[in-house]
Formats: sequence, C-alpha cells, structure tokens
Amino acid sequence: MAFRQNHLLGIEPLAPDEITTILDLAETYVDLNRGPEKHAQALKGLTQINMFFENSTRTQASFEIAGLRLGADVMNMAMQASSIKKGETLIDTALTLNAMHPDLLVVRHPHSGAVNLLAEKVNAAVLNAGDGRHEHPTQALLDALTIRRAKGRLHRLTVAICGDIAHSRVARSNIWLLGKMESRIRLVGPPTLIPSGAADWGVEVHHDMAQGLAGADVVMMLRLQRERMDGGFIPSEREYYHRYGLDAAKLGHAAPDAIVMHPGPMNRGVEIDGTIADDINRSVIQEQVEMGVAVRMAAMDLLARHRREMAA
Ligand code: ASP
Repeated sequence: MAFRQNHLLGIEPLAPDEITTILDLAETYVDLNRGPEKHAQALKGLTQINMFFENSTRTQASFEIAGLRLGADVMNMAMQASSIKKGETLIDTALTLNAMHPDLLVVRHPHSGAVNLLAEKVNAAVLNAGDGRHEHPTQALLDALTIRRAKGRLHRLTVAICGDIAHSRVARSNIWLLGKMESRIRLVGPPTLIPSGAADWGVEVHHDMAQGLAGADVVMMLRLQRERMDGGFIPSEREYYHRYGLDAAKLGHAAPDAIVMHPGPMNRGVEIDGTIADDINRSVIQEQVEMGVAVRMAAMDLLARHRREMAA
C-alpha cells in the first residue's frame, strides 16, 4: 500500500497514490460500517487521544467512532475546561500528553499551523482535525470519497466550491486534493470572501453563481464562518442568500446530475436552501458524514501501519 506519512497534517504533502490508498481502504470500512458487526482490530492496543481546542460536533464524534470501531482506547480531552484555560502553552500540553504514550493524537485548533507545531513535539502520529483556516484533510478525503462514489472518478470533473472561501480550511484542503487528482476547480463567491491571490492557485474565480455553476458536476457549499470574520464581509444574510445561497434556480445552472455537498454545520436559508439540502436526489450531505467515519478509520489504520513498519 502506498502510504509514507508519519502524520496527516494536510492534503498538501500527500501524493496522488497516497490519496487513492486512503480512499480505497476507506471503501472497505464503508462496508464494515454498514454490516451488523462493526469491529476490526487495526488499532487494537493503541491509544487515541482527541484534543479539540475548538468546538466540533461531527468531526469529534466521527474520529471517536472510527477509533472505537478499530479497537483503540479512545480518550477525549475536554480542552475548553483543561489547563489551556489556565495559560499552559500548547507545547506544555503536548509534552504532558506525550508522557502518557498515546499512539494517535487527533487535534483541532483555532490557529493555522498549531497542529504542525504540535506534531514536531510529540511521538504520536498526529491527525489534523482542522487548524484555523489552513487545512482540514479528513474533510477533503471524505468529500473525495463521496464524489468518487457518486461520479465514479475524481479526475476531469468540474467542481464549484462556493461561498466563504477566505475563512475555509475545507476549501483549502479540497483545492489541494482536487487539483492533485486533476479536476477543474471553480471558486464562486463575493470578492470579499475570495482571497486576492486565489487566481494563482490554478483555479477559476467567479463572482456570479450562474457563471460559476454552469455545467458543474459537483456543487460544494461552504458555511459562512462568522467566528473568523472581524468585519463586514457581507452586506446582510438576506442579500447574501439572494446572490450566493444555493436554491433550485441557481442549481439549475449546474449539470442535470450535479451533486450538492456541504461540510456542515449548515446555515439553512443563508448559504443553502433547506429543501435542496434535504433533497435525496441531489444532496449527498448525509453520505459525507457516513464517509467521514470510514475515511478516518482508513487514515488512522494507515498511520498505525506505517509506524509499525518504521519501528520494525
Ligand atoms: N466543520 C467544518 C470545519 O470545521 C466546516 C465548518 O465549520 O464550516 O471547518
């Protein structure tokens, strides 16, 4: 199997064959997760610690289930209530954890780059569960698996990533991944929410939904990340919905069999119409959540295998 990473910090360092390896292994875990007996042994005897310095519902639950299904001892550190609040530095926290000999550390942090820093200081394999606006690799992998299952491939697709690109780690990881897999990427959103250098990322930039969605195979909506905004990026939510919210009329510009995605949590009536989100013929949002568990199982399994090979 092609997988040579000590950590999963982002999509940027991965080679295309490593991405394919994760997705192929994840397929086997999709089958396991749909069966009556959901246990495998890949992480048996290993300790997984989840450290979420930022709120999360689905990602934390997904990593927890993934670890439990593979037989790991899984611990969730309540970081909001922990010594971080008492002023302990990230590095001190890492060293304390290190002394407990975890094998896998799953980390979410509000600062871009914090997870990479931590990975340099600990012995465990570190998985980035989202750092600031930098990367969210397992989200892009679960999106890729969802797209591959719906469309049968990842190359030569037109993927429109729409909305708050500026604050989105989901967008960045997806741009890396889809670019490596040779899909055509369009970023669609108001100029205030698309970083000025985006045109140099090998993507098309559109400020109009009709143009950006024209003929697209995949329409990926992003949440307006208000917690990362420090000023007036949009005139009002109503105006934003009118121009950029995905409704039936705007979706009508995409390919007739286009799928609709959203990483969650959704703001219904802001970036997406609730009826579109719930339309089982177009929306694969629930499938994304399902794929999330399988992809995280695959990623942790591969990291654990690589560690065993290196130690041998
Ligand atoms: N859940 C994703 C993230 O953590 C997307 C979002 O929050 O909008 O980045």
